[in-house]
Amino acid sequence: MTPPASRLIEVALPLPLFQTFTYAVDGTLANQVVPGSRVLVPVRSRRAIGICLGDATATVARPRAILDAPDPEPVLSTALLGLCRWIAEYYVVPLGIVMRAVLPAALTGADVPRPAAHMRRTATIARALPSLQERDDLFGRAVRQRALYEALESLGGEADVSHLTTQLGFAGALIHALETKGLIALRVDEVRRDPFSARPRAEATSHVPTAPQREAVAALAAASGGEVFLLRGITGSGKTLVYLEFLKEVVRRRGQSAMVLVPEIALTPQTVDRFRAVFGDLVAVLHSALGDGERYDAWRALAGGEARIVVGARSAIFAPLANLGAIILDEEHETSYKNGEAPRYHARDVAIVRARDEGAVVVLGSATPSLESWHNAERGKFRLLTLPERAGAGRLPQVSVVDLRIGARSPMPDDLPDPFRRVIGEAIEDGLRERMARGEQSILLLNRRGYASFIQCGACGYVATCPNCSISLTYHRTPERLVCHYCRYEEPPAGQCPRCAGRTLRQRGLGTQQVERLLGDRFPRARIARMDVDTTSGKWAHATILDRVARGDVDILLGTQMIAKGLDFPNVTLVGVIDADVGINLPDFRASERSFQLLSQVAGRAGRGPKGGAVVIQTRMPAHHSVRHALTHDYLAFVGEEMPGRAEPPYPPMIRLINVIISGTVEVPTEELAQRVSAWLVDGTARSERARITVLGPAPCPIERIHKRWRWHVVLKSEHAGALGSLARALLERFEVPARHGLRIAVDRDPVSLL
Ligand code: ADP
Ligand code: ZN
Repeated sequence: MTPPASRLIEVALPLPLFQTFTYAVDGTLANQVVPGSRVLVPVRSRRAIGICLGDATATVARPRAILDAPDPEPVLSTALLGLCRWIAEYYVVPLGIVMRAVLPAALTGADVPRPAAHMRRTATIARALPSLQERDDLFGRAVRQRALYEALESLGGEADVSHLTTQLGFAGALIHALETKGLIALRVDEVRRDPFSARPRAEATSHVPTAPQREAVAALAAASGGEVFLLRGITGSGKTLVYLEFLKEVVRRRGQSAMVLVPEIALTPQTVDRFRAVFGDLVAVLHSALGDGERYDAWRALAGGEARIVVGARSAIFAPLANLGAIILDEEHETSYKNGEAPRYHARDVAIVRARDEGAVVVLGSATPSLESWHNAERGKFRLLTLPERAGAGRLPQVSVVDLRIGARSPMPDDLPDPFRRVIGEAIEDGLRERMARGEQSILLLNRRGYASFIQCGACGYVATCPNCSISLTYHRTPERLVCHYCRYEEPPAGQCPRCAGRTLRQRGLGTQQVERLLGDRFPRARIARMDVDTTSGKWAHATILDRVARGDVDILLGTQMIAKGLDFPNVTLVGVIDADVGINLPDFRASERSFQLLSQVAGRAGRGPKGGAVVIQTRMPAHHSVRHALTHDYLAFVGEEMPGRAEPPYPPMIRLINVIISGTVEVPTEELAQRVSAWLVDGTARSERARITVLGPAPCPIERIHKRWRWHVVLKSEHAGALGSLARALLERFEVPARHGLRIAVDRDPVSLL
């Protein structure tokens, strides 16, 4: 007999290396291994799951053979494999690292048992034993077997095996004994664990689309594959209805599949509910709180075509949908669409590439589009659709400004005797009182959590800072701790100043905990809900708070930027911004844009119903364009003032950026490495095709130290996307980073923040 023929394949492994590996596949597995298949391979003395990319082009002297090919079908379609390659190339990341982000975790670990993670075994009574005599005969002295049998009876004749073993404590051997006797039958079910199925199903509301909504839907329905639309609709203009009507066309009439991306599922349960109300079980929800097994279930449902609409946050862009007709990105300006670690992809850009390759239409929706998308619309790369008015009974709220410099009657409101008045002026206080008297609701924004922003010594000026990061510790009252908002370091507040030993430590600045207490003191009967990172750590905490607001069980919803997004509560008639200036002065070129977006979005939560609404913004910078144009809901005026500032010196969207971050555990070697990286990059730009790259830096990052790591950066700017990518790739492939002091280089392409 001739041995089965073997062939060589190229495999990507989830390692931080820009190379692929060659393995042999022998005849028995050959048919199963195609591009996109998972393969279990030996790597030195370990085993790892890799992805077959195709036949090997390089020849290797003595290739090792793959150990297994676990799946009958490839886990990555040709299209998704192509998308992975694009991400690897554009974001300058090893392909294996991209695949690890694209596939559910259950598919990429070598040790994850394949089916067990998502199988449910059920035991069912197979033969009824109506009489006592029969029982005595069959069980004799096997009392535990009898107890198990009777437990099953009491559970209605059927139960999960895991319930019987872990909850009720029956040994697995007992279950097998009953099965052998033919008394019970074991069944293995695949279960889809959908946490959203526990939420009450919302009613599908059927509004008659307004004329602008109809026009938008018609334009989308007539579009050809690969086209990108920017849907700019003011807050409350009914963008969701446009999405729903377009998806009815795509999913119901054309039988295609579709994606709906939202910034964060937990913050937008209402949006998810609307899609589920219309499309029911066709919708699979990918939630960041899903366990590996649940995520895998959803992934399989999508791959198998049982679910044809995925709703999820950024990583849902990798859902294994076939025959993709539409990709919708709601609130496209949100920074949460950018992944914070390698691969540092932006879901909006990945969506555009995926749609182009698979012939789908992209809809980017926002009331305040990112300047990048606006620029693309102006250049004709995206088609602009506009919803200029609020739909239904809503009207844009009246926005007024309270100048904290004047209103306080003293230059420093910190000196006012009434602590409530230091924080909340008369306009908001009166507004809250009126709303409560009328049974209406209010939203208050303060984009800073904790109780006080920091603790400072009144005598020597000492500020408590994080030992791991170069930022001050935030004072939290319940429980009483000083907390680092970057690395979560905590310590109890000191009784006296560690520097001068004075008993003069004072709380400075303001956080949501303090506002909550002040409100509670001022309005003892008010039902106040606070929503920030500290109150929403549980899986369903966000949805629980928002459901309470929707039911009318909350008078005042107080929170950080979490409360600014997508909420649609018609009974909210007042929005107050306690300090609009938080964030405006951050050392980042997008600080103004972010502030304008946040103010516009939160203002947009008011006046969504027939009762109308009002917004009051407290600020010390009423003349700042972020504040001024948010007052008049004037996106175009904001862009008109902001865009020229991005031209000289040039910043996105006028040019492209790569942020090269150099970090290490020891200060001086990190700086030295940054100097060398910068010099290397300057040298690299001397070559002709990279001539138009500007190298800025090195400089310490605005946050110099995070998690005990010192951070420096070099910023690369150019109009030429390709040249930027090739320079960054050359750096990562050729520049040798010394293997000491934890030194590292990271490349962040199209960064959303330079902090
Ligand atoms: P956006 O996302 O644009 O801020 P939403 O999609 O949340 O706005 O819609 C705002 C409100 O207007 C919702 O309560 C929605 O039910 C309502 N709405 C949308 N379209 C219509 C319409 N054509 N007629 C009446 N009400 C509508
Ligand atoms: Zn820290």
